[in-house]
Amino acid sequence: MAMEMEELIEETVELILGAKKVVVFTGAGMSTESGIPDFRGTGGLWTKYNPDDFTYQKFLKDPDVRKRSWQMFGMFRMMDLVQPNPAHYAIAELDKIGKLDCVITQNVDGFHQKAGVPEEKVIELHGTIKFVKCLSCGKRYRLEEITKRLDEGVEEPVCDDCGGMLKSATISFGEAMPVRETAEAERHSRECDLCLILGSSLVVYPAAYMPIYAMEAGAKLVIINVGTTSMDQYAHVRINEKVGMVLPKIVDRVKSRLAS
Ligand code: ZN
Repeated sequence: MAMEMEELIEETVELILGAKKVVVFTGAGMSTESGIPDFRGTGGLWTKYNPDDFTYQKFLKDPDVRKRSWQMFGMFRMMDLVQPNPAHYAIAELDKIGKLDCVITQNVDGFHQKAGVPEEKVIELHGTIKFVKCLSCGKRYRLEEITKRLDEGVEEPVCDDCGGMLKSATISFGEAMPVRETAEAERHSRECDLCLILGSSLVVYPAAYMPIYAMEAGAKLVIINVGTTSMDQYAHVRINEKVGMVLPKIVDRVKSRLAS
């Protein structure tokens, strides 16, 4: 291991050991390490489809957009075949050793929970693929229930209770951010003293405001991401590497130092 990397890891270990409230902020880089394409990146969904054709407003107005959206939705089931990676498990380990306040994520795949972070500690800013919601009464359906209907030939599933329009519980382009989650994420960001930014280039707003809130409140920032981010100049530690390559080492060291 290069000396410089060794120092960066050691510095991060010290910051975690010294912190009272650690908030973890995660982005698409976490999921791509599990083999899920970044929707916005090379080869991603939005290079094959035009996101302007799938805005929230067009979904509401145009039955054809809804039909095509449900065809795309069928692809979400591949997520069942994909597993969390060492980076997700390392974050869950942080929780087990009492070093995790919460995870704020831009990802919709549910991998933090799958890796063992308790549901109540995961704030999903961009929603989740695991559920479908009724836009009229708010009833939620599990992903499997709806994909089953699609397999049976239903082109546009509707709500059992009220006949209302259903939509994936992910946040679409043009759709408002979830109010409760956004407020919770801001509160946790303002109250933490260390913010670990993992696998995000911090370009999607308003999600990317969270590390700014943390910094404004005096928290230190550690950024682990391949490629530059919009906040590199403010990071106390900046590691240009895959999260799964370094975070497990960092957490192992924190664990052994706590035990000694
Ligand atoms: Zn309904």
